[in-house]
Parts: sequence; structure tokens; C-alpha cells
Amino acid sequence: MLQDTYRHQGQRRALVRELRQRGIHAEPVLAALAAVPRHLFFAPAFEAHAYQDKAFPIGEGQTISQPYTVAYQTQLLGVQPTDRVLEVGTGSGYQCAVLLQLTPHVDSIEFNEVLYGRTRQFLAALGAGAAALHCGDGSLGLPNRAPFDGILVTAGAPSLPPALLRQLRVGGRLVIPVGDNQTQRMLRVTREGPESFIREEFEDFRFVPLLGASGWKQ
Ligand code: SAM
Repeated sequence: MLQDTYRHQGQRRALVRELRQRGIHAEPVLAALAAVPRHLFFAPAFEAHAYQDKAFPIGEGQTISQPYTVAYQTQLLGVQPTDRVLEVGTGSGYQCAVLLQLTPHVDSIEFNEVLYGRTRQFLAALGAGAAALHCGDGSLGLPNRAPFDGILVTAGAPSLPPALLRQLRVGGRLVIPVGDNQTQRMLRVTREGPESFIREEFEDFRFVPLLGASGWKQ
């Protein structure tokens, strides 16, 4: 049963305090994490882990990202209420549900068919708003739905996928971890003009690999 209780809400408030202490300061992002019942994205047997600031396995060799990572990437993306956002790596759907708190215009693409099928059903049951979910290689973006004001990649890439840069609107931001198979540096690339991009570097993280044409080979 999809149930949220006062106890869960209290645990979320404690998690949000922890994230604030770790430097997350964007109030809309903190409010979004306070609103999304993360425990519902876990199998009941693992629910007790939902409000620890940790990544957790979701099957298929994949993970639901750590809340700090979700908050950090979402803060860097700087979502405005009218923005059109693409998430690459739907996974459990948690990050997608957080983005939906900030804008109703969210597309999310997942490479793994099993996760795609499961998360699609789950988000519908949760009534988590109307994200457009897609199954396919998100390293190529979603040309038919472009341009985007924000693209958030939740898997580690070997380099910047050119298709994702092309699919940014002028003024749009790409937030993506790029590195080797051990650590990835969080990058934000802003499209300043049709052919001009600003690249900023932030903290190091450790993600599961981005697969596909502009990702790691399987
Ligand atoms: N955002 C997810 C969440 O909130 O649960 C966490 C995602 S997990 C860290 C990364 C996801 O990226 C995995 O589900 C993986 O299957 C997916 N992935 C890897 N390569 C991909 C690609 N080329 N296109 C789309 N999804 C990809």
C-alpha cells in the first residue's frame, strides 16, 4: 500500500535538515525533497533505509541516488516553474518525482527495459504527476522533444554527449557527472549562445555508468 505517515514526514524533515547542513540552500529544492515520499520508492523490506542519506540498490544492477546527490544536481539545474526538463536515467523514478515538484514539464528516459516498465507502472500508481517516460538511449537525448531548459544526467559519462549539448535551448543547462569508472566530476554546461557554452566544475561523485552510444560500452 502506498502510504505516507507522520513518522515518514518527520524522517523527511530530519533528512532535509541534514542536507541543509551539508550545503544545499535552494529552498524550492529542499521543499521538493521534503514533499516526495522516498520510502515508497523502496521495496517494503528495505523501507527503513529510505531516509538515510545513502544510495540504495533498486535491482538490475542500478541504484536510487543518494538524497544529497539528488538535491545537489537539482540545485545546480536551477529549475524554473515553466522549464522543460529532461532526465537521463529514470531508475526508480525518485529524481523524476523531485523534478515534478519544480516544473510539470518533465521527460525522463531509461535504457533498462525492466526498470522502465516497473517505474512507469509505479509512478502512475503514485499519481506523481505527468512525467513523459521513455525507454531508450538517453545519451542521445530526445531529439523529438528538444529543446530543453535543463538536462540532468543521473549516470556517469566518459565525456560530454554532443547530442545533449545540441538539445539545450539557449540559456539551458546540462548537469552531468563526467569521469572514469571510479569517480566523476559534476559539470554544469550552460548554452550561452547557439555555438557558445560555459563549463563549470563542482564536486566529485561516484555514479553507475552511462551506457549507450555516447556512454560506456557494455
Ligand atoms: N535517477 C534515478 C533515481 O532517481 O532512481 C537514479 C538512476 S541510476 C543512478 C542511473 C540510471 O541510468 C540507471 O537506471 C541506468 O539504467 C540508467 N542509464 C544508464 N545509461 C543510460 C542511457 N544511455 N540512457 C538512459 N538511461 C541510462
